[in-house]
Amino acid sequence: MSKLGINLKEVKCPNCGAVQPKVRTPKNFSQFLWGGNTCANCGTEMDKFGKEIKK
Ligand SMILES: [Zn+2]
Repeated sequence: MSKLGINLKEVKCPNCGAVQPKVRTPKNFSQFLWGGNTCANCGTEMDKFGKEIKK
């Protein structure tokens, strides 16, 4: 094993490539439900797979 087994797959911002923190605070109800994230670097919203969410 090369890494700790508890590591989840990294999610990177689709816009700027910043690695998103695994511990997140949902910013809205949709993120709370679906596990999305908002990039702290550029503000892009994405789902839990790192896919940009178009508004
Ligand atoms: Zn970003």
